[in-house]
Amino acid sequence: MNLHPVQYFSFLVPLSLTLLGLALLACWRVLPQQRFLLWLSVGYVISSLTLSFQSLLDTPQMAQWSAMAGILYMGSFWALAHGMALRCDGRASPLLAAAICLITLATLVYYSWIEDEIIVRATVLNLALGLLLLLAMPAIFRKSAGDDTLEKVLRISYIVLAVYALARPVLVLTLIPDADIAHLTRSLYWVFMLSAALLFSIWFLVLLLATTLRDILRVLHAERDRDPLTQLLNRRAFFEEAERSLTDSRQGPWTLLSCDIDHFKHVNDNWGHTAGDAVLRQFGQMLQKQTRSGDMAARFGGEEFTILLTHSDLEDAQHVAERLRQQLAATQFPEIDTPITASFGLTAVTSPTDISDAIDRADALLYQAKRAGRDRVYTE
Ligand code: GH3
Ligand code: MG
Ligand code: MG
Repeated sequence: MNLHPVQYFSFLVPLSLTLLGLALLACWRVLPQQRFLLWLSVGYVISSLTLSFQSLLDTPQMAQWSAMAGILYMGSFWALAHGMALRCDGRASPLLAAAICLITLATLVYYSWIEDEIIVRATVLNLALGLLLLLAMPAIFRKSAGDDTLEKVLRISYIVLAVYALARPVLVLTLIPDADIAHLTRSLYWVFMLSAALLFSIWFLVLLLATTLRDILRVLHAERDRDPLTQLLNRRAFFEEAERSLTDSRQGPWTLLSCDIDHFKHVNDNWGHTAGDAVLRQFGQMLQKQTRSGDMAARFGGEEFTILLTHSDLEDAQHVAERLRQQLAATQFPEIDTPITASFGLTAVTSPTDISDAIDRADALLYQAKRAGRDRVYTE
């Protein structure tokens, strides 16, 4: 094969993109539940291999292979869009994608086998690729609220990539001199297009890997900090967060609330441990719902719970505890056919060094409440 020097470069760049795609595949093997990594990897690898293959062709051969290359490009761009949509908990419509692909394919076949018009082919194909990428937009825009900067940069980059794909036909029409079209894969335009693809791909991959790593760390943090049954904070995380809050005077005053379900052993003995677990889970959800976002609700073990209420003096906290107590007594638990109650101890906390003593004080009050007959709130 007689290759022009530019074609060596043009052949190697997409091959490097293939390696980037394989890096995503390796990430997916480690994190199989993150299916978007597989789709993005498939998109990267197939489009890069197609680009690599196309770079070896001269302009007449490109007409011959245009339908095949079109199918591979469109399939891989749909995989990219689908991967990105999955990442945002959505999907890229396969029906719309199929419609775009069929119309484009018919146009490609006509303008390569019946009339050989490379500019029309390039315009139509790029337009189709841009539209395929746009199919992920509903998912991207739907999930944009509340995300961090890294996530926003990733999504904006994707949007820029889609717009670039749409705008590429304009570049093709305005930038390529006729002389270059005759030898497209050896032209400066081709080198420019490949370099842009390389730049975009590396940028996008770095962002993807960074956000994926961040997501993994979040999951690990959640596993480290949360009680698996109730998803409330565990003891260790409670101390960490409580100390952080207690050093920030804007969050005060603080009240510590200790709570223990009454006669819980009876629930396990009568309805089994699984029913007991379900009651604990529902009780945990109730605590989470009844407290504000700045408050810290934790399961300290068994059927014992601790809550640090911020912006609450003892009187406010007493209302909270009383509301919890009454709501619990009125709640039906589907797994058991009896109401359950809990006892509460409340004490004010003033500083980070006071937290351990405050827990002892609240526990002492809680046991006074138990001895006094349970189902009540005791305050210092
Ligand atoms: P009291 O009113 O005095 O608090 O009585 P109690 O029965 O609630 O207290 P006790 O400390 O005697 O028993 C607590 C029970 O909680 C015993 C244990 O089997 C049960 N328990 C602890 N952790 C779990 C759990 O994760 N799941 C279930 N189902 N039960 C648990
Ligand atoms: Mg108990
Ligand atoms: Mg107990």
